Amino acid sequence: MKKISEEKGRKKVYEGKAKILYLYGGDESKLVTYFKDDATAFNGQKKGTIEQKGEFNNAISSSLFKLLKSKGIKSHFIEKLSEREMLVHHLKMFPVEFVVRNYTAGSLAKKMGVEEGVKLLSPVVELYYKSDELGDPMINETYLKAFDLGEPKDVEEAKKIAVNINEILKDFFDKNGLLLVDYKLEFGILNGNVLLADEITPDTMRLWDKVTLEKVDKDRFRRDLGGVEEAYKRVYDITSKI
Ligand code: ADP
Ligand code: UDP
Repeated sequence: MKKISEEKGRKKVYEGKAKILYLYGGDESKLVTYFKDDATAFNGQKKGTIEQKGEFNNAISSSLFKLLKSKGIKSHFIEKLSEREMLVHHLKMFPVEFVVRNYTAGSLAKKMGVEEGVKLLSPVVELYYKSDELGDPMINETYLKAFDLGEPKDVEEAKKIAVNINEILKDFFDKNGLLLVDYKLEFGILNGNVLLADEITPDTMRLWDKVTLEKVDKDRFRRDLGGVEEAYKRVYDITSKI
């Protein structure tokens, strides 16, 4: 089936694991991000489809970018164009993933030899070099200049924004019955300004039910727990009230 952007004759500039990027209009200053139902885990080793994920994730991300904007956090988000498409500013991305954690889970629990769900005494912030071939290795600030991955001061600012976002999202999900365990953000530069980009969805966050600790995110797919679509729908329902 032809994607809506293809019907409109938009030029595809990139296809990733979860999204496709198209040019919007004649210049290259704006992009359309198309959200797919494709799901991958363990660095692409596990592949599948989550029904309606594209629609849920587009709506969830759009709502969360709006919430963050209302609290002073600038992002690439311009508008939700259709069920699966979001219009964004085309940024020069840092090839870095910013992971913020409030509770132990996933790779942190493994690395530190503790069980999942231990509340951290203060948030942990980690940087990973975005590279599928290398499996996104963890880096630190000294790698930025050494490998020309971005201006250290810009990445420092992105880190600060990532931590500010934590307070806003933690509070929002807490009021809606969910614990924000951890999440991954990406940032880029536009006219010298550091802007939040990419997506904020159950693909990129861990959310647990506050009472039952049931997982309401992509771990249901990663760990074959069932109820995957229902989990995305729950986050969609919560964020659609924003
Ligand atoms: P991946 O590339 O990891 O497979 P996706 O399928 O989500 O992930 O692809 C989306 C790509 O678009 C990512 O590589 C991300 O860094 C990039 N991206 C997100 N927002 C923007 C933006 N505003 N401008 C340019 N690139 C972006
Ligand atoms: N994450 C992500 N993309 C990645 C790696 C991690 O969105 O390429 C998110 C993941 O969903 C989780 C957080 O970042 O919310 C921390 O992930 P972790 O390092 O524990 O990795 P995992 O064990 O899930 O691979």
